[in-house]
Amino acid sequence: MQATMKKPWITPTLVAHGGGLNKFGATRHHQVTERIAEVPVADLARRFGSPLFVLSEARLRENAARLKAAFAHRWPKMVHAWSYKTNYLGAVCNTLHQEGYIAEVVSAFEYEKARGLGVPGERIVFNGPHKPRVALERAAREGARIHIDNLDELYLLEEVAEGLDMTVPVAIRLNFDTGFSDPWSRFGFNLESGQALDAARRVADSPRLKLTGLHTHIGTFVTDPRAYAAAAGILCAFMDTVEAETRAVIEYLDMGGGFASNNALQGVYLPPEQIVPAPEQYAEAICDALMAGTRAREARGRAKPTLILETGRAVVDDAEWLIAGVVANKRLPDGRRGVVLDAGVNVLFTAYWYHHDVRPVRWPDGIAEETVLYGPLCMNIDIMRQSIQLPPLALGDKLVFHPVGAYNNTQWMQFIEYRPAVVMVMRDGGVEVVREREDLACVTRQERIPARLAQPFGKP
Ligand SMILES: *Cc1c(COP(=O)(O)O)cnc(C)c1O
Repeated sequence: MQATMKKPWITPTLVAHGGGLNKFGATRHHQVTERIAEVPVADLARRFGSPLFVLSEARLRENAARLKAAFAHRWPKMVHAWSYKTNYLGAVCNTLHQEGYIAEVVSAFEYEKARGLGVPGERIVFNGPHKPRVALERAAREGARIHIDNLDELYLLEEVAEGLDMTVPVAIRLNFDTGFSDPWSRFGFNLESGQALDAARRVADSPRLKLTGLHTHIGTFVTDPRAYAAAAGILCAFMDTVEAETRAVIEYLDMGGGFASNNALQGVYLPPEQIVPAPEQYAEAICDALMAGTRAREARGRAKPTLILETGRAVVDDAEWLIAGVVANKRLPDGRRGVVLDAGVNVLFTAYWYHHDVRPVRWPDGIAEETVLYGPLCMNIDIMRQSIQLPPLALGDKLVFHPVGAYNNTQWMQFIEYRPAVVMVMRDGGVEVVREREDLACVTRQERIPARLAQPFGKP
């Protein structure tokens, strides 16, 4: 059909040819993505439509297993948790649960989602700054690990424990300056100011709460493993202080998530291969610091604490791709080429801060030139890529964005377009829909139209 379509006249423009080099070194010319997890992109788009998210079960499991292995060799008591907010599609969560990851949730909704998937309360870490009373009651009854974010929550949880007539084991979330990453001081209790120790004392004095853990989550896309080494050292020192000053015995340290994924942050010009540490590097930094930080405590007869990690993006990001189709070509007044795609920042929220790897399915004939990739939204900020070298693309041609597994299927928005389907390429090569494309019924299900407004025209 496309071959018979008449090409529109486009005013010729002069384009400087790159010699395969730009100011940052070699360009990645002529790279294509013909297949995702060995399934041809063209087949996927034909069967399931465009745009389309595609997950790889095999890649997800490999990533999960590699991270586990990296720590298993270095720390004897490990618990890995899957950060739901990074991607809470049921198929993703259950793949990771099958790999031995418990659930890490940051809201009442996520808690329900985990329980709905069949995750028992004892295998849920409950974080986040908003845990309503009913959610705390449920989490306490079901034995979840509750990590207290603030004093009001602490008081509320005491009331809840009183009401349930039980003693609730808890951890407190801490924030502090590692010297290597910007402190996220809005979450948890600040260590330097003394707030954290006050909170620990307050919990230790409580007849209804029992301090068993310390939690921190120092940031996201943290590319310097030394930040984690510093955080581990700080947690160990704080554990010693708390144990010396209260009767608490700390059973676990939770170091949160934040490991970088193989993605290119905007403004960082080195390729991810050069700046993103391997899981083993994070593991070494953390476990060496924990070894050093717990040695004296062990000599006093205390067992090593369990280490909990709450990994998100590093496990899922490169296990998902987005296929987007070209819907229009245009020439911008400044001479650059504009391409309108059927997927925009409505589905690829992370286009705001990443330069995703974007590749055509096959390399088209013609000269590559500077191109702006736009999404389909009537919104000026809907830019999938400000500048990329691409040859002319035909209507219907597909581009593949990668890695897109982290934070897109949770932060996408339903704005003037339906959210696309998500499929998973299973280990046996089969392809399963794991989230249907939305339709009008999905979008209007919650709406109620008052009787007087039942008809669009005519007298009320
Ligand atoms: C978001 C979050 C994570 C996961 O972070 P990543 O950067 O995706 O690894 C872990 N723990 C907490 C408390 C979080 O809020």
